[in-house]
Amino acid sequence: MSLEVSQKITIQKVKNSKINQVDFNNLPFGQVYTDHMLVCDFENGKWSSPKIVPYGAISLDPSAKIFHYGQSVFEGMKAYKDAQDDIWLFRPFDNQKRLNISSKRLAMPELPEAYFMEGLEALLLLEKDWIPTTKDSSLYIRPFIFASGNGFHASPSDKYKFIIACSPSGPYFGGKLKVLIEQHYSRSANGGVGFAKAGGNYAGQFYPTNLAIQKGYQQVIWTDDTTHEYIEEAGAMNIFIRINDTLITAPTSDRILDGITRKSIIEIAKDQGIAVEVRNISVHEIIEASDNGSLKEMFGAGTAAVISPISGFGYQEKDYVLPELDNTFAATLKKQITDIQYNRSADKFGWRYSVK
Ligand SMILES: *Cc1c(COP(=O)(O)O)cnc(C)c1O
Repeated sequence: MSLEVSQKITIQKVKNSKINQVDFNNLPFGQVYTDHMLVCDFENGKWSSPKIVPYGAISLDPSAKIFHYGQSVFEGMKAYKDAQDDIWLFRPFDNQKRLNISSKRLAMPELPEAYFMEGLEALLLLEKDWIPTTKDSSLYIRPFIFASGNGFHASPSDKYKFIIACSPSGPYFGGKLKVLIEQHYSRSANGGVGFAKAGGNYAGQFYPTNLAIQKGYQQVIWTDDTTHEYIEEAGAMNIFIRINDTLITAPTSDRILDGITRKSIIEIAKDQGIAVEVRNISVHEIIEASDNGSLKEMFGAGTAAVISPISGFGYQEKDYVLPELDNTFAATLKKQITDIQYNRSADKFGWRYSVK
């Protein structure tokens, strides 16, 4: 860590840790929080020095802009502990850069890299005993920035808070997903905020997702907002489709989030000699492939679940079932990416980042 910021990170420790109250063998996802959080305020046009304080509630005025105009962006990342108790992050600079890409689109101030990285590392070193070591578990990390300034005037806030909270977590989803290909609602639009990790993108997804759940599905497959003919994302994950032995995923755009899991899977698959096509793929093409037996797999990709296999999909009142294969790309690619993340394999792409 450079002394630039770290000398100035003040740490206020809890008197009594909660760690002994946590059952590390039965961790839910994202519901247990560590003892401390990092907080950094933006005021008078600049970020103040980050502080590490006991995890707890924050007090805001009812006129705080976050409540009214939704200026809020976040990231999702994980810290992993290997067999030697060393701590690793996976491509953390990509999360740091993406947080700023999101902030810029929401007219929020960008956070200097050193504040993000040094704040995160100081927090992880303090919370290292909270990083679980049971299979497929990790410390889920949630960095976020929101408008904490006051006033009902519809304009960007003059104050913001950057917070990093951490949650020791077990695996994300249980089984395979049955999904509904959306034909009416849209997650994002050209010129919109779909590429940003903005809180409001999620708010807009909940209602159509609830409708899909009522019909017996677990997730929505988002299609392009103009024609609803092209596949874009699986809920809040990027999506991959395997036709014969080719892996296909949509190109990123204004409407599609540039996922770190997605781009890592593309590189690992190519490295394995798997044919990868980054191109638009229509619902029509998927149905034709399903009908002629060439549709082999579909899966979502994102930090939380890593890879979520899809068992089947609904489209225009009809259900399509994917085959049950023995050796899936989903399982192979998940093993390869998690082996890198947990330091169980060589890091030939240079993606691991050591925290010490
Ligand atoms: C976070 C997110 C993803 C996945 O991104 P990762 O960097 O792989 O975690 C995909 N789509 C949406 C809409 C997201 O918000």
